[in-house]
Amino acid sequence: MMEQNRDTAGSTHESVSSVLMAEIQEKVQACIQCGTCSGSCPNAFAMDLTPRQMWRLAQLGEKEEIFNSKTFYLCSACYYCTLRCPRGLPLTETMSALKRLAAAEGIKKHRQSANFYRTFMDTVRRYGRVREMEFINRYFLSMKNPFFPLGYMPLGMKLIIKRKIGMEIPKLAGEGRFDRLFRKVEELEAQ
Ligand code: SF4
Ligand code: SF4
Repeated sequence: MMEQNRDTAGSTHESVSSVLMAEIQEKVQACIQCGTCSGSCPNAFAMDLTPRQMWRLAQLGEKEEIFNSKTFYLCSACYYCTLRCPRGLPLTETMSALKRLAAAEGIKKHRQSANFYRTFMDTVRRYGRVREMEFINRYFLSMKNPFFPLGYMPLGMKLIIKRKIGMEIPKLAGEGRFDRLFRKVEELEAQ
């Protein structure tokens, strides 16, 4: 029975990944490799693959090469590439889809980035914007390593002294104010 459950969980996981990958390929199918997105991206200097190269790999379904790269986690969702793409492709959305796919596949290399992205979005879902104290607490808890926050102490102290972080008590449970709105959008997107 357990074996059967494991098989079912494994195949469900695989089918979720395949569906996500197929959606990503569809989004960038019409890319003509002009490079406007790479030339427009403010973070391209730090990326190991340019956005244009990423779309080509996605078209070819080269998941391994895609996940060896940190490009999609360096996307700050500024939408500049999306605005400038001559084919009108949803590029920012595709970068987000790659982050979701990496999380769905449980790629260890991207665990820290995946947790950062997920906990950031969790606070946005709750308040419609990020609340620094709650976000950072969620992020630290997600890493399940009591020593992990230590590396952030000097930066945290600076931000607190400069009053860049609100000192409100974080709420880590309960439904957020914008949860229903996000769920509705997800429903509409799935149609
Ligand atoms: S700007 Fe659009 S068409 Fe040009 S390389 Fe980027 S995704 Fe492809
Ligand atoms: S949305 Fe992401 S990939 Fe596109 S230009 Fe901005 S940072 Fe670069």
